[in-house]
Amino acid sequence: MLIGRKERENNEKKLLAPYAAFSADGERKNKEKQDLTRTSFQRDCHRIYHSKAFRRMQGKRQVLSIQTNDHIRTRLTHTLEVTQIARSIARTHALNEDLTEAIALGHDLGHTPFGHPGEDALNYVLEKYGSEFEHNKHSLRIVTELETRSQDYAGLNLTYQALDGLNKHRENLNVRQKKQTHLEGQIVNLADEIAYNSHDLEDAVTNEIVSIGEIINLKIWQYLKLDLPKDFLKKPLTRDLARALISLCVKDLSFELSKNLKALDPVSSISIQNYTEPIATFSLQVRNALHELKNFLWDRYYQSEKALEETKEAKKIIIALAEAYLKKPEKLPNDEKEKLKSHELVEVVKDYIAGMTDVFAENEYCKINN
Ligand code: MG
Repeated sequence: MLIGRKERENNEKKLLAPYAAFSADGERKNKEKQDLTRTSFQRDCHRIYHSKAFRRMQGKRQVLSIQTNDHIRTRLTHTLEVTQIARSIARTHALNEDLTEAIALGHDLGHTPFGHPGEDALNYVLEKYGSEFEHNKHSLRIVTELETRSQDYAGLNLTYQALDGLNKHRENLNVRQKKQTHLEGQIVNLADEIAYNSHDLEDAVTNEIVSIGEIINLKIWQYLKLDLPKDFLKKPLTRDLARALISLCVKDLSFELSKNLKALDPVSSISIQNYTEPIATFSLQVRNALHELKNFLWDRYYQSEKALEETKEAKKIIIALAEAYLKKPEKLPNDEKEKLKSHELVEVVKDYIAGMTDVFAENEYCKINN
């Protein structure tokens, strides 16, 4: 049995909610011939999977160095966890899973080496040269400008719907001037939060930076303990902790979303984009507990002695690389020097450093110092 694209598009009309995004409406800046079997949103996913920036995420840290241990999250495994959570929520609510997947796969492509400290350091140097760096904007830049898949245009030529979902800071960008992104995009934003809170908590405990004894004092514990095995405190399994947190957040979000959809009764994806607030949200109680958990993770994990030590090193490397290339462009590799014929030096340096993996940046740092 072969299911063609047309049939898939018809199935979407039958199976998805009226306020879902439909792949038959998928539009691209550069017009393309439609695929025989794959929908426009499936093709968006496949283009991201096969991009260079996607592969580089395996060498970029989430919080701690990827050499910490074999099981530490990287930017890539974080992305895959976000994708799983987001697709699962989208399926539950009869939304477009393929569009949700595309946005989740692409949402962190723009991260620099060394996570947020790397981003802060790059932005610090670029601001002195009249530019700036922000990873969400850079994700969009990668898929619209920097990746190559065709001789005819720059970027991956994703659908506008996928770009809208990636465009978290739309006031500064010319993708589409909507008040909100579609529900698929809203769900990825929350799935991102669910994924990093749960896996960072697991990684913090596994790496003995945070203890279970500290977690039981948090508001979130009152919810988590209801879903944990009775003897959890005697024999704690950190995986259980992350599982319980994901489960709590997904159920809470699903309940709130159903309530909001019932109250607002949106007729289309466009009507959802015209609301003043996102309609995919957590309940007030869970939001408060997550806020406290985030502050806790900030103090005890992101600002831990181990993380700060790595942050210091990361900032040193990024600042030294950016300053070196900006002051002496001849230190750039030939491919990058070639780009100077048509691009400003500061933009070339920004794209080059942002694209590096952690190890590549460390090696380049050694090279410029020798
Ligand atoms: Mg993320």
